[in-house]
Amino acid sequence: MKINIFHMYPDLLNLYGDIGNIISLKKRCEWRGIEAEIVDFSISNERDVNDADIFFMGGGSDRGQGIVYSHFLKYKNSVSDAIEDGSVFLAICGGYQLLGESYIDADGNKIPGLGVFDYTTESEEGRLIGNVVIENNLGLKPRTIVGFENHGGRTYHNYDAFGSVRVGNGNNGKDGLEGMIYKNCIGTYLHGPILPKNPHLSDHIILSALKRKYDIKELEKLDDTQEYAAHNNVLDLYAGGRSTE
Ligand code: GLN
Repeated sequence: MKINIFHMYPDLLNLYGDIGNIISLKKRCEWRGIEAEIVDFSISNERDVNDADIFFMGGGSDRGQGIVYSHFLKYKNSVSDAIEDGSVFLAICGGYQLLGESYIDADGNKIPGLGVFDYTTESEEGRLIGNVVIENNLGLKPRTIVGFENHGGRTYHNYDAFGSVRVGNGNNGKDGLEGMIYKNCIGTYLHGPILPKNPHLSDHIILSALKRKYDIKELEKLDDTQEYAAHNNVLDLYAGGRSTE
């Protein structure tokens, strides 16, 4: 049993420890005896995206995003088909913005995105920065997902949200929604890195890929004492934060 984890543009999109997400996926597979190959995909190392079981795309500066966006546009159809076909995709912040129609950066430049989804993102006055706690809409227990956001872009859409905001800002700081979900694709503003602090989300991503490829229905349980200590530490910063479910 083997899954291929495509790390998209690791040299250009890696803010706030996003690489920790790749390590979390790989380790949680290995601890269960599942082979996980990390495939770095970038401008100087293009790979066949059809080989990906999981795509991971991190966040970046406006400059890094501009470079990635213009290079990745030619993959619009193949990425869109892969997502329709149930490939797993975790897109953080700049990566999440990229899956939409466009991103208007802090200088007012309109950077075309892949347009896999019909949302747009526009940078507004004041960055949205800080810890975030959401209640996820994936049905995962515990319901809380913790992370850290730092973005100038505001995203509005009509897709299902990844979660509702309990602490922080999320998509735009106004509608109380965070991220988006469509099939096995999750877009979110949560860095963190998000996966080490939310092992239930990490396992959801691994299991979604294994279900699709091998019809695996459940994962062996791991000892997540350390991971949930990190998770609960964020919840404890906010009164009444811990999930009882
Ligand atoms: N440059 C984008 C913004 O400010 C994305 C930032 C990020 O990926 N953290 O909205």
